Parts: sequence; C-alpha cells; structure tokens
Amino acid sequence: MIRTTITGSLPKPAWLAEPRVLYAPWRFDGEIRREAHDDAVSLWLAEQELAGLDIVCDGEQRRRHYIWGFLEGLTGVDTQTLGRKASRGQRYVKQTSVARIVDELTWPGPVLVDALAYVKARTSKPVKVTLPGPMTVADSVLDEYGQRSDADVAMAYADIANREARALAAAGADVIQFDEPCFNIYIDEVADWGIEALERAFDGVAATRAVHICYGYGIDIVRAWKERNTEWPHYFATLPRLAESSVDQVSIEAAAAGVDLACLEPLAGKDVMLGVINVGTDTVETPGEVAERLRRALPYVEPKRLIGCTDCGMVPLSREVARGKLRALAAGAQLVNAELEDAAS
Ligand code: ZN
Repeated sequence: MIRTTITGSLPKPAWLAEPRVLYAPWRFDGEIRREAHDDAVSLWLAEQELAGLDIVCDGEQRRRHYIWGFLEGLTGVDTQTLGRKASRGQRYVKQTSVARIVDELTWPGPVLVDALAYVKARTSKPVKVTLPGPMTVADSVLDEYGQRSDADVAMAYADIANREARALAAAGADVIQFDEPCFNIYIDEVADWGIEALERAFDGVAATRAVHICYGYGIDIVRAWKERNTEWPHYFATLPRLAESSVDQVSIEAAAAGVDLACLEPLAGKDVMLGVINVGTDTVETPGEVAERLRRALPYVEPKRLIGCTDCGMVPLSREVARGKLRALAAGAQLVNAELEDAAS
C-alpha cells in the first residue's frame, strides 16, 4: 500500500564524472558521452527495479546539476561564465556562483523528452521526470539581460517550464516533479507569488503533479546549517497553501531535519513523499529504521497516500551507499506494508 520512489538524483558512475562532486564535468564528449549517459541511466534503472521501487526515474544521470541540466537546453542562459548572487536567503553561504540570463529566455523545443523515451522503453513502472521549479530557478540565476525581479523571472521561466512539462506529459511521463527547495526559505514569497508561479508551470499538464521541498543537499555547508538550525516551522506555513493548489504529491524532508510531522495534517487528499532516507550521511539505514520513520507519518497520512522517499537527491553520495539506501527504502516500506496487511486481515 505504501509506495516508494526517490526525489531524483543518483550518483554518477566514476567513469561518467568525478563522484561526490557537484557540477563535476563529464569525462567524455560527443558520441561517447551519449553512450555513457545511456549506460548510466540503464544501470540506475536496473538498481531501482532490483531494489523494488514503485516509481522510477533516470537518476538525473544526464544532468551536471539539477538546475543547469534543464537550463542548458534553453536559449539565453550562460552556465559557463558565472555570476555571483546572494541566493537561498544566504542560509548556507553569503554568495553563490550562479548562471546568468544574458539574452531572451526561450524554449527552443523539448529538452528532456528523448531522455524520457529512453527510460520509458526500458521499464514498465511509472516514470517520474524532475524539473527545477520557478522560484528556485529565479533564485539561482542572475538576470543581466532584463534586470527583472525574482518574481518576474520566475513567471517568465514558469511559462517555459510549462511547455516542457506539457511535452513530457504528452510523451508519457507519469509524474512531473518541480524541485522547489526555496519554498522552505522564502515563506512570504511562496504565498505572494511562489505557488502562483508553480501553478503556471503545471497549467494543463496531464500527469501527476509533484513538488519537492527540502532543506538542501547532503553536502558540507548544508549539513553544517542543519546542525546549527533548531527551528523547522517552514512546512507549517507552506503546506496549507499547497493543500489548496493543483499539486497531487508533496515531497517532504523528514529524515535529517527535525520536522514535526503534524505539518502533514493539511495535506489530506494529497500524496506525501516522505523523506525517510537521510542523504547527508554515508550510513545506510536499516529497513527497520526506514519502517519506523514511515510509521511516524501514519497518524497523518493514509498508507495509500504515503510514498517512502529520500530527503533529497543522492548525487553527493557514493554509488555503494546510494545503492544500499535504495534497498533499505524499499525493504522498510515492505515491512510496514506487511504489518498493515496483518492488521487488516
Ligand atoms: Zn532537495
């Protein structure tokens, strides 16, 4: 009854790019790179199926970074010569290197549809495709071309993301997920324009609509912030607003952060992707630990609406650890499902 999936990214094999490094360059160019991407996707699809996950994805093997991988398919964005920006509310660091908008932002055509076709041809399970969300993209670029506010960049990007999302849905994507870690940072802006931009990106999209909201990757600066941080009120502000949206599934970080799961109460009727895998540690959870984390959500979420998930992407981990975590995730959900079946019989 409880299903399982991952938020999106998985580690790159060492032969594709340097492991455990964000933005690591590809080892190969041209035809060899294409073949290497295909092989890495096949490999992680097999691992997800072997583990027993219910909804699978390409592990973002074709993307150097979860935001740039899509932006690089658009026109008007420079991801080579970077700018500096006080992004993520300066939560982790004062300034970050960001891509620059240097010309009109346009959608020349489907960016991820061929990659989806590759996955669909190799699995009979429902397939998820992730895209960076409008608020998070706006926060992650410097608009040197239009000097627009983040809200205006988000709306312009939302129209582009919408065309991609519609194309992906038409090509058979079962779930389309926008990644919006910034929804856990800019609480007021989420209410003012963040959800509006997200709705614009989902407008007319005929697939299950998901949004991933986390407290950041399992990398050093984020881990250090999570250790310092003591208050986790963000979901209590954002989830009631998402409850009124057209979003079908909401992904919540709950393993590494001290989130009170009572925040899930307003999401009745929506699917909850609950983070039960901590992506900031090399320690692989036992199935029992995963099961215990899932049980904590049962007072708030019906089993058929509960999807065991990772807190965030696993790209910063080693392959061995990520593989272990995939298996623990599925095995933990199986334990709880067996209990629920026993209780029902
Ligand atoms: Zn995340």
